Amino acid sequence: MSTSNWDPSRPAPLEEDVVKCVACGLCLPHCPTFRLTGRETASPRGRIAAMRAVEEGHAVVDASFTTMMDECLACRACEAACPSGVPFGRMIEGARAQAEPTRPVAARGIRRAGLTGVLPRPRLVMAAGWLLGVARALRLDRLAPAAHRASSPPVSLAELRRPIPQTLGEGPLARVLSGCVMDVAFRPTQRATMRVVAAAGYTAARTTPAGCCGALAMHYGQPEAARAMARARIAEMEDAEIVVANASGCSAHIRTYGELLADDPAWAARAERVAGRTRDLIELQPPPSDAGIGTVAVHDACHHLHAQGIGPRGLLAGAGAHCVDLGDGGRCCGAAGLYSVLQPEMAARLRRQKAEAVVATGAPVVAVANPGCAIQIAAGLRELGSTVRVAHPAELVSPE
Ligand code: SF4
Ligand code: SF4
Repeated sequence: MSTSNWDPSRPAPLEEDVVKCVACGLCLPHCPTFRLTGRETASPRGRIAAMRAVEEGHAVVDASFTTMMDECLACRACEAACPSGVPFGRMIEGARAQAEPTRPVAARGIRRAGLTGVLPRPRLVMAAGWLLGVARALRLDRLAPAAHRASSPPVSLAELRRPIPQTLGEGPLARVLSGCVMDVAFRPTQRATMRVVAAAGYTAARTTPAGCCGALAMHYGQPEAARAMARARIAEMEDAEIVVANASGCSAHIRTYGELLADDPAWAARAERVAGRTRDLIELQPPPSDAGIGTVAVHDACHHLHAQGIGPRGLLAGAGAHCVDLGDGGRCCGAAGLYSVLQPEMAARLRRQKAEAVVATGAPVVAVANPGCAIQIAAGLRELGSTVRVAHPAELVSPE
């Protein structure tokens, strides 16, 4: 009989995953939160030990368990470094789902409203973007706390009015995920994405209306909401030869749709098919060109580097860029979904380290292929007074 103290009504880390950890500590030097704090409780090994204690019935999910899991960036650098194949990414998702009832009711309510009430509804996301734009136009954003002001995305009303083509190009059908935040705050990237997909030989067709892939809901303990969003996206994208996402968190998450819906007989095969057809934009290979890019510093998003083992150098080099690494071992920038909002101090330290690494390259532009990272790194560069430009690789290889 199981002695586990997990709540059986919620997802939890799997026993077979938890016991894989042999506590060797080889992941510790790769963990940004351990490097910042030196605390075992902020390390992958410590977090897994806490999960194991609950799994074996020696501990319960309480406030200290929740703090340990919430301090984690879910960057998966530990997973990539682990010689025992510990799948930390899905374990932390299960641990956070278990931790959800221990959070304050108000915090839970606000987060649930954002993740399950706003993100799946494109009109609400767009309305939030318009409100941000209006606040900027009226300079009301000066009233926001400095940290939030520094990290709010540069939405302008004029930009929100500029259309994004719904279809472009000729060839096999490529469904391009419109997404949630990208469609509001990164419209030049969305337009460039359509051009790159078309240049790579596809009929690029955006999913409409824009809608979230469900990654954030999954990362923050709302698996049912994540499944609902996955089903909606699958229905929109399953007719395509390939499915393209231009944000690392989205492509990594869509690739797990098969796992996410494995127990749903009506959707399992459809989810697996879409997952298998998913490509990140940076994996596409448009014909070589010379976009006159020059030297580009390259930021590797965690959900590219650690979760998918991919990077944008091939795409950039194909357009004539000279790519320069940041020299920080691909450490997380501290954006990590909602991390910069929920753990502002740790996020600020990571942001500064990342911005300093960018500036040290001497490159005039840094390629960043994830919206959270782009906002975070741009804020870090502004804090340093740097003029280095942040751009998605799609915008660099296919300038307007
Ligand atoms: S997660 Fe992997 S690398 Fe880290 S302590 Fe456990 S077995 Fe070792
Ligand atoms: S996911 Fe990142 S922050 Fe979390 S334990 Fe692993 S390396 Fe550390």
